[in-house]
Amino acid sequence: MSYVIGLKCRECGRRYPKEVIFVCEYCFGSIEVDYDYDAIRRVLTREALASRPKSLWRYRELLPIEGEPTVGLWSGFTPLFRAERLAERLGVRELYVKDDSVSHPSLSFKDRVVAVALSRAKELGFDTVACASTGNLANAVAAHAARTGLRRYIFIPADLEMGKVVASLIYRPTLVAVEGTYDEVNRLCAEIGAKYPWAFVNINIRPYYAEGSKTYGYEIVEQLGWRAPAHIVIPAAGGSLITKIGKAIKELALLGLLRGAPRTKLYAAQASGCAPIVNTIKARADIVKPVKPNTIVKSLAIGNPADGYYATKAVLESGGGAEAATDDEVIDAMKLLAETEGVFTETAGGVTLAVAKKLIDQGVIPREESIVVCITGNGLKTQEPILNRVGQAVRIKPTLASFESQLAGQL
Ligand SMILES: *Cc1c(COP(=O)(O)O)cnc(C)c1O
Ligand SMILES: [Zn+2]
Repeated sequence: MSYVIGLKCRECGRRYPKEVIFVCEYCFGSIEVDYDYDAIRRVLTREALASRPKSLWRYRELLPIEGEPTVGLWSGFTPLFRAERLAERLGVRELYVKDDSVSHPSLSFKDRVVAVALSRAKELGFDTVACASTGNLANAVAAHAARTGLRRYIFIPADLEMGKVVASLIYRPTLVAVEGTYDEVNRLCAEIGAKYPWAFVNINIRPYYAEGSKTYGYEIVEQLGWRAPAHIVIPAAGGSLITKIGKAIKELALLGLLRGAPRTKLYAAQASGCAPIVNTIKARADIVKPVKPNTIVKSLAIGNPADGYYATKAVLESGGGAEAATDDEVIDAMKLLAETEGVFTETAGGVTLAVAKKLIDQGVIPREESIVVCITGNGLKTQEPILNRVGQAVRIKPTLASFESQLAGQL
């Protein structure tokens, strides 16, 4: 049973069948999935949800597939926990971490979008999937495609972190390292996608893919007892996650699942060396100016974000804001999260926490209100920038005397 009515242009509203369409033929607007919310309201109750498996597919009526889900059955429903020690360090009352650094199986929130994209790609009859990626999407497509038996072509910029390269290669995809920026990889993939009959998850089946990000938002609300927090700080690369968290909260309100009003303010977090969305939000502009990325935060290094316009709109409409973090601030924030909450996040998580701290210090986010920080990836994948910034082990001989002399003053 499907609750998808069809596809729809976000700009002119023209309707399309549920096929492989990603730009409007009339106005070049982007395409979105349209649901029958009245029908969903009748089946998707809090009680019905309470008895379902703890994966992202518990919200399947709000996801764009026709039959039963077939990919990512253990993805999603990651921990959301109250971060008391971090809250104390930041000087705030009510702080939560939503932790996709432990997402099954590929340790980033990209498992969500790929679970949905590949389930749909199979329904559409594809036997080959592909993607243009800054690293985490590559890992997720490679892993899920391996498990589901799809052929896989993965395109990445040639300068990615070793952890992300290895965590793609292990699944035996065809991994193509392009000598260029992500934006150049993406442009090349659009060309390849026009010639080869492959499902490029973030290009030609992007309308289905992007819907997977909504589950991160549904989970935040459900895990807070069906209440939306006052503030959510969200990392942005292409700008899809932030747009879809906004959409998720609106949908839950529309379906009567949210307690209280949808009052959440959204904040975009980017690295100073690649902040096209943050720049646009701060300028209150509506045209995103592309930039050339220069940052250690490779997972967010998209200079020309596909959903930059919608991300900007979602943030401004919510009454939220945006801020960027320098590479040094990113590393400090990665260490702070690890030291206070025991979570080792990647550089993107460092961006989110550093930006949250800035917005709190600036008084933009009030210290008394509820705040969720979105941790979207795992630190074991981005070890290069912190290798020389985490101290060293104390080296000793295997004797008690050596132990006590080397640790003199620390015991
Ligand atoms: C891709 C990615 C994001 C941002 O996703 P968009 O939807 O492209 O904005 C955030 N965090 C991590 C770790 C990512 O890999
Ligand atoms: Zn249109």
